[in-house]
Order: sequence, then structure tokens, then C-alpha cells
Amino acid sequence: TELPADVLNDNARRQVHDAAFSFVTPRVPSNPQVVHVADEVAALIGLSSEDVQSDDFVQVFSGGKVPQGARPYAMCYGGHQFGNWAGQLGDGRAINLAEVQHQGRRWTLQLKGAGETPYSRTADGLAVLRSSVREHLCSEAMFHLGVATTRSLSLITTGDQVMRDMMYDGNPQYEPGAVVCRVAPAFIRFGNFEIFASRDDQDNLRKLADYTIKHYFPEIQIDANSESDHYVEFFRQVSQRTLAMIVDWQRVGFVHGVMNTDNMSILGETIDYGPYGWLEGFDHDWTPNTTDSQNGRYRYGYQPRIAAWNLAQLANALFPLIGEAEPLQQIIDEFLSTFVIKHDEMMAKKLGFGRFQTGDAELIRDLEEVLQLTETDMTIFFRNLAKVQSSTDASDSPGMTAVMDAFYAPDELNGETLSRWQSWFSGYIQRIASSGTSDEERAEQMNAVNPKYVLRNYMAQLAIDKATAGDFSLVSELHDLLRQPYDEQPASEKWFAKRPDWARNKVGCSM
Ligand code: AMP
Ligand code: MG
Ligand code: MG
Repeated sequence: TELPADVLNDNARRQVHDAAFSFVTPRVPSNPQVVHVADEVAALIGLSSEDVQSDDFVQVFSGGKVPQGARPYAMCYGGHQFGNWAGQLGDGRAINLAEVQHQGRRWTLQLKGAGETPYSRTADGLAVLRSSVREHLCSEAMFHLGVATTRSLSLITTGDQVMRDMMYDGNPQYEPGAVVCRVAPAFIRFGNFEIFASRDDQDNLRKLADYTIKHYFPEIQIDANSESDHYVEFFRQVSQRTLAMIVDWQRVGFVHGVMNTDNMSILGETIDYGPYGWLEGFDHDWTPNTTDSQNGRYRYGYQPRIAAWNLAQLANALFPLIGEAEPLQQIIDEFLSTFVIKHDEMMAKKLGFGRFQTGDAELIRDLEEVLQLTETDMTIFFRNLAKVQSSTDASDSPGMTAVMDAFYAPDELNGETLSRWQSWFSGYIQRIASSGTSDEERAEQMNAVNPKYVLRNYMAQLAIDKATAGDFSLVSELHDLLRQPYDEQPASEKWFAKRPDWARNKVGCSM
């Protein structure tokens, strides 16, 4: 149905009731310039390399030109931020541009940073080059690591300056604006359900749940006799997908940084790359989010618990459709108990055990403790652990030689710390020696789950610094590197290194 022009053009900031989205028109950038395009994401939506180089491409994916037949809109969602209900939140700076179907798959294209929407509240709806480089590179890096995530098609500077109020001195600073085009089957968040539940809008809550199930969970059977069963099944599947995503985050050392319920995709995909970070020193307590460093709500070791808490908020939102709490509670309990099992299985793979065995739990817990005694680089540790020989004499602690590069403070490896490591390696070598797997085979299995290359914060920062100076080569270089994170890339060995000292304690900023 055609909507009246005043509705279509009403981009004023407001509370939006009785609707899941609002039509908006992206902002026309003054001088859009392509920084980088992920060719394989272009191919996913049916665009050739010529298409990507066309002027139309730059216009469409920077917001300058709405493709024919498309009706861009911003979605309405709320969310729990840092544990508190925050009401209507967004989407204040993301506009769903269009849906495309290609080779039997359906994709939503979403522009981030293409201007105000009714949900922009006090902010400008824009994004800066800095945060856009981080999103573009990291979402693609995550995909190639095998972690469920939204994709990123393109990164385009707008030619406009964006004001960012820097907290340090109160003086506004200007930064180059940019637009990223995200690609995913859908961008529906936990918060899309929560906003309707919070307003007691059961009609729209049901419509959204039915729509989501129909399009994105088609395997769920709708039983006409038991209306609520398929909503329970829906919640179970969201929970399972979320679980798989979190296990992968823990495996690669990714810390999201802002696991608010509005940043949780209903599809169990990593979404909203803001102040995320990668563990360098393995540390359960680490968070990249400086605004959260006091409470550490979203620290590495808490991510599974927070995911369960977020699922509980989603359960509350779906409750009106189900009418009983018990099946929902059971799924949340299952999430936590299953996490322990999946986490052990994942760690057993990282350690080259193939299959998890009962006795492995102790080796795994012990390792997680010893890794935190002195600062130990997670990526380098696990990657080099594959070089340990099972035939060596455990008493010489030869294992430690293989992983020595992972220690930021090798001179602290003495006394109690050293003997804890030696005893861990002695148990480890016994375990791998009795596994019946050859060293070569084990190394191959380990290298398939322990990445050699991840997007360390300083790497993203170097790419940002260059891009800000107009040189986009490092964005391309890192994008290419991170397409094969498990492969040896001898020409890129410099990126397999501990964080340099100048980058210590520097974390990325999300705004
Ligand atoms: P985030 O913490 O980045 O997930 O942001 C929380 C919400 O704030 C998002 O859902 C956006 O709607 C909104 N937001 C963040 N940055 C901006 C911005 N520059 N302009 C408008 N809205 C924003
Ligand atoms: Mg968000
Ligand atoms: Mg600690």
C-alpha cells in the first residue's frame, strides 16, 4: 500500500508505536569515495567486479541513490543496555536499503551511517571512517574464522566531516564520515521483540515472531493444535544459535564489548562491531570497552553468562505468546549446562585432543589459570602449541620452548609460575602421547581451529591511520590477510606477533 507523503518523509525523531519500522531516505553524501569492497560479498548478492567499479555502486552503497523498487527503512527496537531497560533505541544510524535474492538466498542490505532516522535520538545518524574500518574488517575476519556474523560489502567515505565530541577536552573534533553496507539474511534483534512486549503490543509481537519464523526458521513446524509450541521451539533455536556463536567467540578470543540486547541478532550472528577487541593476553577479565572497565559486565569470561541473561530478556518478551515460563526457563538452564560441554569440546580441539575425554576438564581448567599467571598471548600460544612433540621428555619442559614467543613477560616465568607451567606441560604431553594421533595430524587439526591471524586492535589502528591520510592500501592488505586466518602466509609473518609495546592498553573506540 502507498503511504501518504508526509508519513514517508517523516524522519523526525520520535517514539514510534504500532510499527516495526519507519520508511526513511538515506542522506546524500557530498563526495563518496570507495575505500574497499569485499568482492566475495558482492558476488553473494550477484554483483560482478565491473558492477562494483561502477559509479552506480558508489552512489547506491553510500546512500546517494536509492535502487529502483527499494523502500529503505529503519527498524524500531528497544533493548537492555548494561542490564537496564532503555526503552526505544533504534535503529538510529542504520537503514535497511533493500532485500535481494541471489542463487536461492535472500539478503538484506543495510547502510550504517547514512544519516538520521526517527530513532536517532540526540545523535547524528552518521558514522566515522575509524569505526567503519573496524566494522568492515572485523566482520569479514570473523566470517573467515568461521564465526556466525553479519557481512560487510563495502566501505565508502562520504566526503563529509562528522563532528565527534571528544570527552577529553570538550572540544568538538571533526572526522571523515563513512558508510558501511552490512549484508545479512536479516537484522532483527532481541530488542525488536522486547520493544513490543514492553508496550504490551501483543499483535505486533506475534506478527514479528510469525514473520521471523516463516522467513528465517522455516524448519519450525507450526502445530495448529498447540499454538504456543512453535514459539518455544523458536526460542530454543535462537538459544542454540547464540550458544554456537559464543563458543566461537571464546575459541578465537573475540570480545564483543557491548552485549546489550539490542546488539543481539535473532539469527545468532555477531552484529554491531563497536568497541570490540581481541584477547592478546589471555584474560577472563579483559574488556575492550573503556566505559565498562569498572564493572566489566561484558568481559571475555562473562560472555556466556551475559548471553544467557540476554536470552532471558528475550524469553520475557516472548512469554505473552507462550503463557508459561517453565519451558523457557528450561531452555535457558540448558544453555548454561550445554555451554560447559561445548566449551570443553572446543578447548579439546584447540589442544589437539580430537575428542574431549573426562580427564581433560582438569587440563583445560588448569591451562586457563596458568595462562593468566603472566601475560600470555592467546593466539600465539595456541598456534605454537601445535609444534609440541609428543615424543619429547616432559620433564625438560620442551613444550615451553615451543610457546615461548607467546609470553609478554618471559622474565616472570620463575618460581611457582614456572612450576605450574612445567606441570601443565607434563600432563599435556602425556595426554597427546597417549592419543594415538601423529604429531603432524594433530598439528593440522589444531591449526584448523587456532587462527594464526586475527585483527589485533593495533592492526586495525594502523589501517585507520593510513586510511585517514588517504591511503587505503592497508585496509586491503588486512582484508586479504584475514580471508585465510588459519593458513600460513609467510609474506605476512609480521602480523603473527605480539602486540607492540606502543599499543598496550590502547583500545578501539566505537562511536
Ligand atoms: P550501540 O551502542 O552502537 O549499539 O548504539 C546504541 C543505539 O544508539 C543504536 O541502536 C543506535 O540506534 C544509536 N546510535 C549510536 N550511534 C548513533 C549515531 N551516531 N546516530 C544515531 N544513533 C546512534
Ligand atoms: Mg547497536
Ligand atoms: Mg585476571
